[in-house]
Formats: sequence, C-alpha cells, structure tokens
Amino acid sequence: MVSAQAMDGEPVSDEELRPKVLDGFIGQPRLKAQLQLFLDAARKRDVPPDHILMAGPPGLGKTTLAMIVANELGVAIRVTSGPAIQHAGDLASILSSLDTGEVLFIDEIHRLPRAAEELLYIAMEDFRVDVMVGKGPGASSIPLTLPRFTVIGATTREGMLPSPLRARFGFTAHLDFYPHEELEKLIERSATVLGVSLGPGAAHQLSLRSRGTPRIANRLLRRVRDWAIVHDLEVVDTAAVKDALALYQIDSEGLDRLDLAVLQAIVGSFDGGPVGLNNLSAMVGEEAETVETVCEPYLVREGFMVRTPKGRVATAKAWEHLGLNPKDDVNKLF
Ligand code: ADP
Repeated sequence: MVSAQAMDGEPVSDEELRPKVLDGFIGQPRLKAQLQLFLDAARKRDVPPDHILMAGPPGLGKTTLAMIVANELGVAIRVTSGPAIQHAGDLASILSSLDTGEVLFIDEIHRLPRAAEELLYIAMEDFRVDVMVGKGPGASSIPLTLPRFTVIGATTREGMLPSPLRARFGFTAHLDFYPHEELEKLIERSATVLGVSLGPGAAHQLSLRSRGTPRIANRLLRRVRDWAIVHDLEVVDTAAVKDALALYQIDSEGLDRLDLAVLQAIVGSFDGGPVGLNNLSAMVGEEAETVETVCEPYLVREGFMVRTPKGRVATAKAWEHLGLNPKDDVNKLF
C-alpha cells in the first residue's frame, strides 16, 4: 500500500487542502452533478456504487474526488497505485482483505502489470479472485468470493487502458483544466485554510499562472506565502505575487521551466518541429511520459503546440512567447 503521492513533493500539506465533501469541491459543475446523482442512487438502492474511472492530467482532483466519494458514502478507502503492484498476488491480497462497500483507489491504473489487470477484471465483474496455492505442476487455484466493493481508478492516460478494463467502469469522470475564475475561488479557499491574507487581485494573478491546475495553484500559493513571511508582509498584494513567482521562474502565462524548455527545444533545436516525443524528451532531459502527460496537454490547450501525425510542432504563439519570429516555412503549417 502506498499513500497518494503529491506531484509537488508536499503530500502532507496536500491533505490539509483537500475538500472532504462534494460541496467543497470547486468547479467541474457537470462532473459534480453526475457524481452526485451516481452517489444518491447508490445510497437509495443501498448498494455500493459501480466502479468509477477518473481520467485527466495530474493535479486536477482525481484523488480528492475518490476520497470525497468514500467520505460521502461513509466507507473506508484503501489507496494503492499501478506501479506499487508488482505481481498479481499483491493485488489479490489487497482484494481479499477488503470489507463490504469499501473503496479501493488505484492511482495510475494504466501502469498495472498485465497479470494484475486480468485479475482485476474478474474481481470487478464477478467479485471473485482466484488464489493460487502451491507451485509448479501441483499448483491449483481456489476461487475466493469477495464482498461487493467499489474500485476507483485514476489515470492520466486513459488511452493506455485496455478496453476490457475500461469496460468494467460504470462511470468515467473526465477532469479538465480549470478556468481562471474557478482557480481564483480555489486559491481564496486555500488561503483561508493556510491563514494567508490576499490583497485585491492577488488570487486573480495567481490563478493566471497556475496552468489551470489546482495542485499548482496551491503550490504557488505556498511559495507566495513564504515570500510574504520573509518580507514581513501582512497582506499579499499583486506585486508580491509577481515578484515571488518570477523568482520561481513561472512566467506570465503560467509556463514553468519544463514547459519553456520543451518549447525552446522544438523551436531552437528542431526549427519549430515536427519532432517526435522521444527526441523531444531526450532533448529536455525528462521522461517521455512526463512531457506527454504533464507539459503537453496544457501547451496544446493554450495553443503553444500542436500534435501532428509527424510529431510536435510549435505554433506561432510559441515563437512569439519566446520573443522569436516564426520561420516562413513553419508559418505555412498553420
Ligand atoms: P490528482 O489526483 O488528479 O493528481 P489531487 O486530487 O491530488 O489531484 O489534487 C491535488 C491538490 O489540489 C489537492 O491538494 C486538492 O486538495 C486540490 N484540489 C484538486 N481539485 C480541487 C477542487 N476541485 N477543489 C478544491 N481543491 C482541489
């Protein structure tokens, strides 16, 4: 078992900022309404709800929602992740220790080993797990009936889930980047929890630089809080936000060091692209999965990059943002 690990390496403080009930979860109104209905129906029918898949980029609230679901249902939640399960047996022992109605949260479910995936299909569908007894030719499998439980899977790469596994989920929640107004509310709520006093416009400035992502908004708020403490500021004003974030190399569009390195590599080393993911990742010294799941969705959404069948291409907006002139031949692409 592992605890949910925050991307920013501050797992403990992530906990204090997690809303505990659906009402406290900011934004994503349609998704909240869908989940509310789903939970109400399960409560009325007095059965554990169907399995739920949470899909979307890191830091948008997948773990938070899973915890809210368990809390709203008044049941315990077990937390594990795809990479933490190395053998099917690891999963079998977790499954066989679940109590009725419990929620099993599997983060990065697309990274489960194949044998564990197969075991999970059966467990999710038939509430049964085959336990292997003995080794070699004399080994036999004993079916073990499980109580009804709910799997909540989280993935940043829904496309990587094999379709039989995807088909076992009764509801898929797609989380999308948050608009600035929602992030502003989230930052104000977090500031109250952390005891930070924000001046007019400060939450707005922070929201513009948070890449549409609650986890980043909370992280930047903490860095701004540090700045205020060190500079003896009682109230964090917009100037403090700008100065603090400039120190942490977050630019006016919310692009961080890695985003800028990616754009600079496409433009500087590959003449604007197209460039394949592996070449690009090697160039910026980062794992392909991080570039693909953390950087790209935001760069694409904000119009800095497009994905073409031949590879990644920087848009005119990216060249401009880097203070460069797009080459004529690159311009023709758009
Ligand atoms: P994920 O599992 O998608 O990577 P998390 O659920 O761990 O993301 O969320 C990261 C942080 O952002 C948590 O501290 C959580 O409290 C906060 N957060 C995420 N979504 C929301 C939301 N809609 N409202 C309030 N806080 C949120």
